[in-house]
Amino acid sequence: MRLRELNLGAAVIAAALAVAPASAENAPDLSLTRFDCGKTTTLTDVSRFSDVVAFKGLNVQLTFSCYLVKHGNDYLVWDTGNPAASGATPAPTAPKSSLVEQLAQLHLKPEQITFVGVSHYHGDHVGQVASFPGATLLIGKGDWDVLTQATPNPAANPANFAHWISGGGKVEPLIGDKDVFGDGSVIVLNTPGHTPGHHSLLVKLKDKGNVLITGDLAHFHENYDTNGVPTFNTSRAETLASLDRFKQLATNLNATVIIQHDARDIDKLPVFPASAK
Ligand SMILES: [Zn+2]
Repeated sequence: MRLRELNLGAAVIAAALAVAPASAENAPDLSLTRFDCGKTTTLTDVSRFSDVVAFKGLNVQLTFSCYLVKHGNDYLVWDTGNPAASGATPAPTAPKSSLVEQLAQLHLKPEQITFVGVSHYHGDHVGQVASFPGATLLIGKGDWDVLTQATPNPAANPANFAHWISGGGKVEPLIGDKDVFGDGSVIVLNTPGHTPGHHSLLVKLKDKGNVLITGDLAHFHENYDTNGVPTFNTSRAETLASLDRFKQLATNLNATVIIQHDARDIDKLPVFPASAK
């Protein structure tokens, strides 16, 4: 990869982060909706989310969240959660309604989804990605490389991505940030460490203001507040650097931070099918 192009790309994104989205009159309709992408019925013992034994005895109500960003007539689905319930004995964490069913409640079809972005390759974020074969897949290059490498990685499931891996769908493996719609209003942020290509999401809403969605940069409040690094992250150093970047962005953009897996953050957005604007 040519260094000059990379630098230019970084400069463009830096500009996009700094400026407000297009002026109100000509800005496309922008909204953010939360989907239920699975549940845990009991509290989770989160000791393994600290590599310095910080969460011994701590139990947290976790959840699984996916999101829809509407940008005019274009749509981004952010994370695709656990696979939907199926069969006689569905997995206890399976969402009751699939993303396709939840989209139908918004009068949307999967073919209308322009982009499907996944924060990272773990199963609870990619379970329904195959429901959007017509969408351009946005995924960190570090994660894409793991999915497409010859030696399988037990933490990643390439089967979900077979459509894109086989060349049947469009994919953009992201090296850094991605200004999704080209106007600075929705930016996929490079926040590696949980996995090599992990990303988070920034949405600049008109009324609600800036919203930062973590992906699995942090899994719950105590984890976020103390820069906890889970034992199973791929890089401690990258996780800490990404937390530092994300927190500075949150401060400088006066953003609402939503931790996707923390049930305490569900009500930071309106209850489905309502959306934040
Ligand atoms: Zn997760």
